[in-house]
Amino acid sequence: MYTGRSKCLKCGHIFEEENIFEGCPYCRTDRFVSNITPLYDLPVHVSNGSREKFRELFPKDDLETYRELLPFKEKLPFVDLGVGNTPVTKLPRLGEELGLDLYIKDETRNPTWGHKDRLNAVLVNKAIELHAPGVVYASTGNNGASGAALAAKAGLPCIILTVKGVNPTLEKFMQIYGACVIGAKSTEARWNAEKSLVDNYGWYPATNYVVPIVGSNPWAIDGYKLIAYELYKQMDPLPERIVVPICYGDALFGIMKGFTELREMGFIDRIPQMVSVEDYGPVAKAYNEGADIIEPVEGWGSVASSMSTLWGTYHSLYALRQSNGLAVSLDDNGQIQSAQRELASKEGVYCESASASTLAGLRKLLAQGKIKKGEKVVLLITASGVKDTKVVSSYLEEVPECEDDMASVRKTLEDVYGLHLR
Ligand SMILES: [Zn+2]
Repeated sequence: MYTGRSKCLKCGHIFEEENIFEGCPYCRTDRFVSNITPLYDLPVHVSNGSREKFRELFPKDDLETYRELLPFKEKLPFVDLGVGNTPVTKLPRLGEELGLDLYIKDETRNPTWGHKDRLNAVLVNKAIELHAPGVVYASTGNNGASGAALAAKAGLPCIILTVKGVNPTLEKFMQIYGACVIGAKSTEARWNAEKSLVDNYGWYPATNYVVPIVGSNPWAIDGYKLIAYELYKQMDPLPERIVVPICYGDALFGIMKGFTELREMGFIDRIPQMVSVEDYGPVAKAYNEGADIIEPVEGWGSVASSMSTLWGTYHSLYALRQSNGLAVSLDDNGQIQSAQRELASKEGVYCESASASTLAGLRKLLAQGKIKKGEKVVLLITASGVKDTKVVSSYLEEVPECEDDMASVRKTLEDVYGLHLR
């Protein structure tokens, strides 16, 4: 059960307040901030816990089933769109090629085709419990659209502060659910507006609006814990590694926290190793150097917009350290694009470029000898590629045209695709 209290990940300060959105003020400096995390009295403690026992206690995969492991004080009925219960799928062809027992946890099966629904399912219900007038986002895509959908279902007002000129597919995706979408001139302007809506009007924030970056709403981040609970039910034994694309690392942290709770309740002995993949790598740099302060790094024009950041969060580092994890960054867009193409053409998985970066990162770690052949590995596929058509259009070839006769079709198949009809 949620205790109503939260704890700073760095200094351990305990908070009774439920409006700490800018990180812990007690250990904050002008270069460092730590997020806080809700505390629970875990509902069960078993010795030698089994999957059978866990399924008996938590038979389904929805908010109601896991209520006692989520940050709610009141027992209100949950607003839900059917978030969660996403499949684990084996990747036999890529697995054989890489010498791994390889799987994906397919978060594209959520209601808005991405893992942000995990965060927003908790966020919107928490906003209702706290009687907030609405929810507010600084977002350029997936997160705002997901929040808008869940807010629409709840009948709760939603403001999304975006920037003009974002991917038009994502812009319309945010608008269609009826949210108030506003294009700001800069990130700083968006964050100032979000802060004002929180401080002066009591709106419930989903996303970061401070520097140094703290990450998302700490109560909502606990929605990602359900990915760990589901993986425990779905995989026996659990994988050695879970590879997660990170921006501010909310999912990385939430999944690690879910596994930590499974261990504390007596269901598992060890936490799978969390592996973070970034395009530019501020977290990888700090983690590999053993630093707490995450210095910004240089960018190189990554196409993976939903993960792209020069900054990182302390809770990403925390999740990696707690699981003795690995952190890797990428070198160029070619790595991401070929991974995206491979996942689609070899395994039928069309995912966003940020999700595809998990495969690119995995290849790099295999080449470095940090992940060994034969290991069981899960890639977290965070969002559908259908949201990313602009990126795919930039590297896929033009569709070839042919004349109105079969000879021309056959010639095109041979010339362009190397396919010879027999
Ligand atoms: Zn602190």
